[in-house]
Amino acid sequence: MFKEVSLEDRKKFYKYEWNPKNIPKFILDSLEYREFAFDYTGEGPSDRYRKFTSVDELERWIRKRYPYAIYSSVAYYEIPEEMDRWIKSELVFDLDVKDLPIRSCKCKKGEVCEICLNDAKDYVFIVLDALKELGLKNIYVVFSGRGYHVRVLDEDIMKVGSYERGEILKFVIASESITFSDDVINFAYYKILKRTILETIKRMDYLEELKRYKRYKKYLLKIISEDNVYKMKRSKIFQEFVKIVTKINKEILDSKVTLDLKRLIRLPSSLHSKVGLICMLVKNLYKFNPIYDARPKIFD
Ligand SMILES: [Zn+2]
Repeated sequence: MFKEVSLEDRKKFYKYEWNPKNIPKFILDSLEYREFAFDYTGEGPSDRYRKFTSVDELERWIRKRYPYAIYSSVAYYEIPEEMDRWIKSELVFDLDVKDLPIRSCKCKKGEVCEICLNDAKDYVFIVLDALKELGLKNIYVVFSGRGYHVRVLDEDIMKVGSYERGEILKFVIASESITFSDDVINFAYYKILKRTILETIKRMDYLEELKRYKRYKKYLLKIISEDNVYKMKRSKIFQEFVKIVTKINKEILDSKVTLDLKRLIRLPSSLHSKVGLICMLVKNLYKFNPIYDARPKIFD
């Protein structure tokens, strides 16, 4: 598990198991507007600016070359082979488990295991709820191989620039530090913040910085369950704790990915050769188990 795939296995995967039908419809519908890129060696996408006008053409390309990694742009262009005449871009949130600030496992930096992949799910649910709070509906969750991509394709949001995306990002993971000194707190924001505070309280044991708040656990839970802003305002411990929570929240999602209108991201259905799992569209996040669902059957 989580081992780099050999060239032979890659060949086998793309010959016998990979199926273009597993590429999500939202990508197939916009195929000719997207830039495609390929990594054949594991050193990064060296072959870029590819355009495909049909699935068959893409299929032939992939089957012949069984790439180490396959990417497509979140952007739509009129001329994707030149990355020219930008039309719009998906809004993307990238949660890479290896960068998750609190993990309840023993993984070292850069490692991923079943436990931390599961930790990540809790945060994906928070992101999804926040996006719904914003009225967004056309949302897809993709297992990236080492984490999750949340891809938003609501028409009006796809046209916005990096600044607006940055503002949405701050909202989505409650990463804006608020001191509760104002009497008016955005209720939707508070809801998300509250959830991340509860998640953080659950994980107090796993981060050195949080351990000193363990003796206040009951107290913090009481304040938060009462929704008493007056108490929150007066409690130094609570304010201190919230500051740490928002700091942690900032690290959960990779802001570079969200702000970049021309980002390439892994193509769902393709193999993440470094970990040996399939990058795939997740239909039911509650039931999804990457270790079982994203493992190529051909490797068993
Ligand atoms: Zn782990």
